[in-house]
Amino acid sequence: MIDPWSSAIIDYEKLTKQFGIKPFGNLKEEINNPHHLMQRNIIFGQRDYGRILKSMREGSDFAVVSGMMPSGKMHIGHKMIVDQLIWYQKKGADIYIPIADMEAYSARGIDFEASRELAIYEYITNYIALGLDLEKENVNVYLQSENRNLGDLAYILSKKVNFNEMRAIYGFSGSTNIAHMYAPLIQVADILLPQTEECGGPKPTVVPVGPDQDPHIRLTRDIAERFKGKFNFMSPSSTYHRFMTGLTGDKMSSSKPKSAIFLSDSPKEVEKKVKSAKSGGRESLEEQRKLGGVPEDCTVFELLVYHLEPSEKKLEELRESCKNGSIMCGECKKNAASMMKNFFEEFSHKREEAKEKAQKILDREPKC
Ligand code: SF4
Repeated sequence: MIDPWSSAIIDYEKLTKQFGIKPFGNLKEEINNPHHLMQRNIIFGQRDYGRILKSMREGSDFAVVSGMMPSGKMHIGHKMIVDQLIWYQKKGADIYIPIADMEAYSARGIDFEASRELAIYEYITNYIALGLDLEKENVNVYLQSENRNLGDLAYILSKKVNFNEMRAIYGFSGSTNIAHMYAPLIQVADILLPQTEECGGPKPTVVPVGPDQDPHIRLTRDIAERFKGKFNFMSPSSTYHRFMTGLTGDKMSSSKPKSAIFLSDSPKEVEKKVKSAKSGGRESLEEQRKLGGVPEDCTVFELLVYHLEPSEKKLEELRESCKNGSIMCGECKKNAASMMKNFFEEFSHKREEAKEKAQKILDREPKC
């Protein structure tokens, strides 16, 4: 069982076999200018992505849904989702960003006002600063608690789900509070909302997620089938990305400040963090010259792959130099730290500029 509120997934292969996620693999060859996360196999799995490919190819309507739960500071692992949204926006997708304040309340005990503040000053600000245009006509950012269409839809959908099913999927027990139990139904509604009449009717919809969120996808797909006669929903598609390793070598988490680079960190802080991150280097320089390093076990290399190095050629050259022992970790970390610092120098200005825009985003009515 995967629990979306606490599971740390590491065995991706087992997961794909067990839950029927298909490899993303060769699909990237069918995409014009694929995202680097696809190119580098960080996006490793998918369900029904073919219909998204078709929409992109034909230029027909499709939507992407990516919720945010405002429950802590955004770190560089979360940036991956925004990077994907930016890519989909360029491909012409309608963008839906539900802010999961109801889930934050039921699963984390965060009150609605605090969620709203956090969503504006942390999440929406970062999304804008990273380059997502939230002011476009086909972008719908809303708080779950303030979207009446969403609440109605969740209520209608919940008629065809029972406690035994929720227990089997999420492990809920008799002591789980009802609000927590209802939160996944709100998320199901978030995913299906773009296909309602108010939002333009049935259309291919993709949800880019980490594999810990797959229970919501499976439940949504099942429910979409159950309501075929009433809504004619298309089963939503999904993609799955690998999580970033924390700088300390275990899971990157907002609750472990040493493991993460936060988007609100200063350029100096991030430089320091990269320089002290766990690498795949050897015990001594002599050993490293002789045996080479292990880029696959290196969090610095991972930062370059996920975020910093745009050139495939340069990445491969570095991988080779690391493996054959011609570059040492000190020099390599220094280069990566400087790239990260440069990124954050520009980004922290953009964050300041984005704050004013971010405040206005939630003043608008949900589009549907
Ligand atoms: S040389 Fe670079 S990529 Fe290789 S292990 Fe050291 S820090 Fe990592």
